[in-house]
Amino acid sequence: MDHFEYRSGVMHAEDVPLPRIAQDVGTPVYVYSRATLERHAKVFRDGLADVPDKLIAFAVKSNPNLAVLRVLANQGYGADCVSIGEVRRALAAGVAAEKIVFSGVGKTHSELISGIEAGIGQFNIESEEEGLELAEIAAQLGVVAQCALRINPDVDAGTHDKISTGKADNKFGVPIDQAGQIFGKLASQPGVNLRGVAVHIGSQLGDLSPLERAIEELGSMVTSLRGAGHAITHVDLGGGLGVPYKAGEELPSPAQYGAMVARVTKDWGVKLIFEPGRVIAGNAGILLTKVVRVKRGINDPFVIVDAAMNDLARPALYGAYHDFVAVEPRGSDMTANIVGPICETGDTFAMGRLTDRLDAGDLAVFRTAGAYGATMASSYNSRGFVPEVLVDGDRYAVVADRIEAGAIMDAERVPDWLT
Ligand SMILES: *Cc1c(COP(=O)(O)O)cnc(C)c1O
Repeated sequence: MDHFEYRSGVMHAEDVPLPRIAQDVGTPVYVYSRATLERHAKVFRDGLADVPDKLIAFAVKSNPNLAVLRVLANQGYGADCVSIGEVRRALAAGVAAEKIVFSGVGKTHSELISGIEAGIGQFNIESEEEGLELAEIAAQLGVVAQCALRINPDVDAGTHDKISTGKADNKFGVPIDQAGQIFGKLASQPGVNLRGVAVHIGSQLGDLSPLERAIEELGSMVTSLRGAGHAITHVDLGGGLGVPYKAGEELPSPAQYGAMVARVTKDWGVKLIFEPGRVIAGNAGILLTKVVRVKRGINDPFVIVDAAMNDLARPALYGAYHDFVAVEPRGSDMTANIVGPICETGDTFAMGRLTDRLDAGDLAVFRTAGAYGATMASSYNSRGFVPEVLVDGDRYAVVADRIEAGAIMDAERVPDWLT
């Protein structure tokens, strides 16, 4: 459930009519709903009611906007970060350092140092090499870094290849059959307290069974690590729960997910960490766009909108589907190709889509754009960066300015010697 609904024929974000935002801020623009973010945060937490000891760390990469992070920090959420830039955002938004998990397969030497200096709650180590490097840095700084070892369980999450992370040939974590030996080696390093294991098998999971298998594998791992004398106090189950992108699409609910997790982990006696991203932010945002013009096509007309693949990359990157509707539907529809202005055929949001009838100047929205939307934006084709707005009841604020193409050009220079 979200708070983007039609009232008297006009789509609103909570109590704010979208045409008002388009008028004041311009298009394209991302619009987030605070009430929806808070609702999703609560539903996810309620789903885990039977998990006694837990930390829910929002996956910052899904929506790193400071205001969004603040909303979730106020809900008691921590942050799962995959770069020092994300760590800085989480801290700036008010997330306590001890509630920050630092994940990622390529943390650099300086990121490890900065992470330790920031007092990160847990480093999720993704390789023996990284663990040894972290241990050495921590020892030099005279501290002990709290860590978990990320395991690659070799489970096919059944999602899109580019967002699958738990198969043996994916770059993430250490292979499960080597994990015991690597854990032993790293646990003996003085600079780290290796206190647990972590897993994250992929994103937009539509079926809980691969996840359940991965969690069971992790449970056996915990048992065997304890058998080898290691104290295991924390297990990180990652994120990955999917969201409906099509109206009426059925996905496992946070309650079903939570019940499965509680059942499988009931005797583990650990603190569980969760890293949801998409399920919190996905349906809490839309991308508001304006139709530039409608062009005749060989088969269907092209509805050319002012948003493009640089603003919302998911369709171009993953062939992802986003519902596309008019802000003020006229009650008739059309079959059209929905495209952006970028000079690439990949800049196509949908082909042969049955949609509301639209003409030049009309406003429309891509739904479910709150996760992996603005955060993946680029300035390709010398387009600026799309702004972001957060709505709260009948008020709203611009929480990220539009960065004009000119400002990006200002950061470039032609050297003197290039006459
Ligand atoms: C991307 C990512 C997440 C979040 O995934 P969602 O599908 O958005 O829930 C969580 N943990 C790690 C390590 C990730 O890379």
